[in-house]
Amino acid sequence: MRISGITRPLNDLLSLLFPRLCQACGNHLVRNEQVICTSCLLDMPLTGFHLQRENALERSLWGRCYAEKATAWSYYRRGGKMQQLIHRLKYSGIKEVGTFLGRYYGTILADSGFMDGIDYLVPVPLHPSRERKRGFNQAEVICMGISESTGVPLLRTALIRKGRSDTQTRKSRVERWENVENIFATGPDPLPEEAHLLVVDDVITTGSTIESCVNLLREAGPIKVSVVAMAVAESGTS
Ligand SMILES: [Zn+2]
Repeated sequence: MRISGITRPLNDLLSLLFPRLCQACGNHLVRNEQVICTSCLLDMPLTGFHLQRENALERSLWGRCYAEKATAWSYYRRGGKMQQLIHRLKYSGIKEVGTFLGRYYGTILADSGFMDGIDYLVPVPLHPSRERKRGFNQAEVICMGISESTGVPLLRTALIRKGRSDTQTRKSRVERWENVENIFATGPDPLPEEAHLLVVDDVITTGSTIESCVNLLREAGPIKVSVVAMAVAESGTS
């Protein structure tokens, strides 16, 4: 990096002392980049689902729950950049990854018309003990980003988490479904009538969490429910 003496802007000095790194690849961010570098953004395995009716994610939910529409920004691949980003968000506690992703995809969703008619964003709740340990619910952080770029407000209390689900790895699909079936409930306040709610999660793997949340909300009143996630496992859409 070239150091040009006393006329150098303070920002450059700060970035030298505290380099801003891409959360996906670890390379230095340049001045206008935030959180994820341009090269990584261009390299994401995007689904394009927000532009396709009856896309693979919507089809994977058929017969399980009724969502008006469903989309996910990127595919989730083992060892891929999306996995790295979700790990940085959930396990390294870097909330900015969630707000950035939400804001970024929110802009795309708003521009494409996907957000038309959506009244509220509903984060998939995290178990309170896990949220306390992590300090935040990653789905809510993503919601806050989407809300920033779309103006659609959050409805935090629409869904609540009852019990603790054990880690979902090493369980069959049936066991996983049984595992999530009883862990969510609708919140104490009545849902706004005739509202169109957008359920937001970080990653959709088997779809069982989304299935459970959509069914609960639709049982609670005359509302419409749609689904958005930042990523979807390719196995979950085949
Ligand atoms: Zn990068």
